[in-house]
Amino acid sequence: MTNLAHKEDYTWLPAPPPRRFRLLSGEKAVFRARPDESAAQWAKGERYIAVSSMPGPYDPDVTPYLTGLLELYSQEHLRELYIAGGSQSAKTDFMHTTWGYDAVIDPGPTLIVMQDRETAVETLTDRLVTMLENTPSLRRLRTGNPDDISTRRIRLRTGMVTYLGWAQSEKRLASKPIRYGKFDEVDLWPEASIKKAYARLRAYEDSYKVIECCTASTESGRIWVVRKQAQARLDFWPVCPFCGEAHIMDAANIQWPEGIMDPAKLGDKGSAWYQCPHCNAKWDEEDRNQAVRSAAALHDPAGEHGPVVWHGWRPRPDSGDIRSAARIWAHIPPLISRFVPFHKIAAAYLLTLVEPSGANLQYYYNDCLGLPVPEDSEGELTSEKELYERRQNYGPDGADWQVPMAAVVLTGAVDVQADRLECEIVAWGEGHESWGIEYKVFHGKPQEVAVWDQLHDFLDAARYRHETGAELHVAKVAVDVGYAGDHAGKFVRRSRRYVAVRGSNTRGLPLVPRKASKSRKWRVSFYELGVDTGKDTLFAWLTAAGSGPRYCHWHMKYDFEYFRMLCAERPKKEKNRRTGRIETVWALRDGFIRNEALDIRVYNLAIREILNPNYARLTTKLREQMEELQEAPPTAERPGEAGQAKPKPKKKASFIASKGVQFDD
Ligand SMILES: [Zn+2]
Repeated sequence: MTNLAHKEDYTWLPAPPPRRFRLLSGEKAVFRARPDESAAQWAKGERYIAVSSMPGPYDPDVTPYLTGLLELYSQEHLRELYIAGGSQSAKTDFMHTTWGYDAVIDPGPTLIVMQDRETAVETLTDRLVTMLENTPSLRRLRTGNPDDISTRRIRLRTGMVTYLGWAQSEKRLASKPIRYGKFDEVDLWPEASIKKAYARLRAYEDSYKVIECCTASTESGRIWVVRKQAQARLDFWPVCPFCGEAHIMDAANIQWPEGIMDPAKLGDKGSAWYQCPHCNAKWDEEDRNQAVRSAAALHDPAGEHGPVVWHGWRPRPDSGDIRSAARIWAHIPPLISRFVPFHKIAAAYLLTLVEPSGANLQYYYNDCLGLPVPEDSEGELTSEKELYERRQNYGPDGADWQVPMAAVVLTGAVDVQADRLECEIVAWGEGHESWGIEYKVFHGKPQEVAVWDQLHDFLDAARYRHETGAELHVAKVAVDVGYAGDHAGKFVRRSRRYVAVRGSNTRGLPLVPRKASKSRKWRVSFYELGVDTGKDTLFAWLTAAGSGPRYCHWHMKYDFEYFRMLCAERPKKEKNRRTGRIETVWALRDGFIRNEALDIRVYNLAIREILNPNYARLTTKLREQMEELQEAPPTAERPGEAGQAKPKPKKKASFIASKGVQFDD
């Protein structure tokens, strides 16, 4: 069947484009075999896959994300394509597809290098030869001479020779010139082998093509380091089947029933799911496959309708132009592969918490995330777990208060995201000991007033009962005006309790400047926060043990995802391009995308500093108030739940906010 289809569809002799004619006049054989077809088109119509859980004709819907990479491979400007991924991402198969494509469309001497000798032999006999026999246009290229296919070499009728090598066979890597290189698992190669293999490509300086594939192993491994050499760096952006928004899939969005910490309980398909960060829809694996297929169908290389999209691939912010880059790096996270179920990733993650051994970390990062193991991950990984285990109930069961005795003032902070506002309320006491009271998310675009109304109603009505029986409201709220600033600015003007802040990445700034800056654009004054300094402080405080000064408490209501966000960044050494000095900067850990909880906690630190509460005076006032309350007859009213509007004498509430606290405005 494939054969017949082939005869009908295949255009053997297209009208040669005139500009090519002169160039190829002496190469008739090559010329004849050069229809204007991309590698993706060729693979779809022709290629047979022998070794796979789904053998048969190549079906682009099995690995839709490869379509864009095959299309890139056929681009004239491409010389080197580096693919970093995890297991099950069909990287090796991708190399073989391009081999068939080269052989049919534009043959040239080829070197295929596998990680070891055994894999090299197996590749030739099991994969390449089977592909040769089952793919119509390749079958025709066989010579019929059995000597032309040995365990180390394939010679085709066009004269194209394919050499098989392995990473340690330096001698084999250093012989004849080659035009096409397909290098697998390059992290396992000795450096000398890479150099030798590249040296063989020199004869074809203007037309060679190399593919390097590897499961990322460590941050200093070849495939991770080489991304810096690449002119374009790409990520794949699946499109949510529920809301139509695209994003880079992140394992942090995998969820499973609350409370499960035992990896063995996540053994079944469907026991974990993926949550779209845009619309919170729960994806099952079929939804994921659909999201990947929809992405591959998106192609807008000029970015005429928004960002540049190349069959679902999008350049990173620091990437060069995909349409002209000679060296391109792409990351295939296993999450986008239909062969990778969510529950396996979730279980592997839990295993790294229960047993953070080298092997478990390696499996989780390399195989499940397609990322290198962070170089100092052992200490880091435990921190979100430690903090999660720190959670506590502040009072006995059924207590009608939320704020314990030692805490005397409440602050809030708001982070603005493209589709929601996030807010945390923190209680503070002597020595800056803190208690996380509540973390809330308000869904809605910050450009629309509705979500701000929700936030305002919440903050305006929020009363938290103190252990003394007094009611506290939130004294000051820091609001991030760094995103959708005019809307955030408008919100800030609604109340004197709201304070505009903006994070600055300039290293070495104090967390809170001595003076607020004025913004005419947002019509508010705002504090430019040295967030890196704030993070240094916060992480120093997180190591404070027991109760007491600077210790951070969290309530049982906080979920694990919160702590993952809180610990999403870690200090990294980086060279300052301007000064040349090595500096420590806070950067997202690989595999982490969401860090709102961290930003919000830093804003809370800042607003506490701006508020500068006099803990001793506030404590005295609360005591006095408690005595008053004890003298007064109990009221019939039930204590207000957090966030519920509760009519209360206005005087008492404003006492906490204005008299007990020194404002600077
Ligand atoms: Zn969605």
